[in-house]
Amino acid sequence: MREVLGALETGARERGGPLPAGGPDAVRAAWAGLLTPGALLPDRGVPGALGELTRALARTAADPADPACAAHLHVPPLAVAVAADLAVNALNPSLDSWDQAPGGVELEQAVVRTLTQLAGLPNGADGTFTTGGSESNLMGLLLARDRAEGTARRVVFCSDAAHFSVRRACALLGAEVRPVESDRYGRMDPRLLDWALADCRDLPVCVVATAGTTDLGAIDPLDALADVAARHRVPLHVDAAYGGGALFSRQLAPLLAGLGRADSVSLDLHKLGWQPVAAGVFLVRDRSALQPLELHAAYLNPEADEEAGLTSLLGRSLRTTRRPDAFKVAVTLRTLGREGLGALVDHCHALARHTAQRISESRDFELYTVPMLTTVVFRYGDSDEVNDALRRRLLAEGTAVVGRTEIGGAVWLKLTLLNPQAGEADLDRLLERVRAAGAAAAAQNRHR
Ligand SMILES: *Cc1c(COP(=O)(O)O)cnc(C)c1O
Repeated sequence: MREVLGALETGARERGGPLPAGGPDAVRAAWAGLLTPGALLPDRGVPGALGELTRALARTAADPADPACAAHLHVPPLAVAVAADLAVNALNPSLDSWDQAPGGVELEQAVVRTLTQLAGLPNGADGTFTTGGSESNLMGLLLARDRAEGTARRVVFCSDAAHFSVRRACALLGAEVRPVESDRYGRMDPRLLDWALADCRDLPVCVVATAGTTDLGAIDPLDALADVAARHRVPLHVDAAYGGGALFSRQLAPLLAGLGRADSVSLDLHKLGWQPVAAGVFLVRDRSALQPLELHAAYLNPEADEEAGLTSLLGRSLRTTRRPDAFKVAVTLRTLGREGLGALVDHCHALARHTAQRISESRDFELYTVPMLTTVVFRYGDSDEVNDALRRRLLAEGTAVVGRTEIGGAVWLKLTLLNPQAGEADLDRLLERVRAAGAAAAAQNRHR
């Protein structure tokens, strides 16, 4: 542990910013000599490998703890959660059978119950931890597909701003995606969904709503969508991988009104929950919905064991060996409480509002829209090339990690603000760097 902590500090000091300066060549140079097969699998072991490799990892990291590292849903994990995960790593329990994790099995079920309450799901709701939103969405669509009766082509309705994992899951499951056009703010329009369902000649197996879209952090109108889905008797899955964390905040939780009406929900506590990856959660309204996943392996969880009260969690996951990611979550929830976590969410939201305000006051920048959660979408000037070039310039300098996306065919920059230790002055400085890189990129563009 001492070696790791020391090497983390040295590596971060050598990096000197949110990411290494100099791009991929400098990154390869920093790993010099450590990445050849001979170095990675020497005939005789190298006792100093832990410190050596940790230092190189930190030296070449994009560090989400730096306020200028603000591109993605990539959080600085809470120290208490990192430390809690260390206990799990040391004990190495696995949830696929009772006799590999007697306490872990109890704990995961309790944390899942707590989260079903937070989400407003009724008694009888249940769920499981997952690797993240992608796996949770796959599970929601798998269960919905298996519930649908009929032989027509299976179709899934979501907005065109839904996460790509919905499309991937449908490809795996043999279902077809029917995207419903979202509005300018990235929200699904319940009337368009209603019409699309009314027109559907195939077998609609699921409506997927998004609470916190990837580009804008937009939250679909969940109550209205639940009404439409219920009218057409189609299950509703809510992908709240990003926005679900707003439930901790008294101020923002009302944005998720209607979440408790979902048939299944995806949450990612490695986003607005500040957990080390992975801390995905999949919840179902009714425990019986998990039945298709039930599995008894003679060598893991024979039915006789289950009948004797030795519960295993093999039958609620797509995985077999599975670590108790619920442990770090339990430690976090109990240490910070709802108010503590809510305050972190509120701080990041306020930071996003502040940044958006600064952007809208500036003549160099254009703000896409007022942030709904913690994402700020904007651009420098009106040239796609300049916005792309300025972002890569910042990456090459090692001074900022800014996101990019495309909306309406244009390139936009994106700040996903998830660092509860960042302050307004940090964001003002970050915007200053973006402005300077924009001016340099625009000048270079003119010379070409
Ligand atoms: C992050 C995210 C996902 C994917 O989740 P992973 O944890 O990366 O698998 C899916 N949907 C939404 C809305 C997300 O924000």
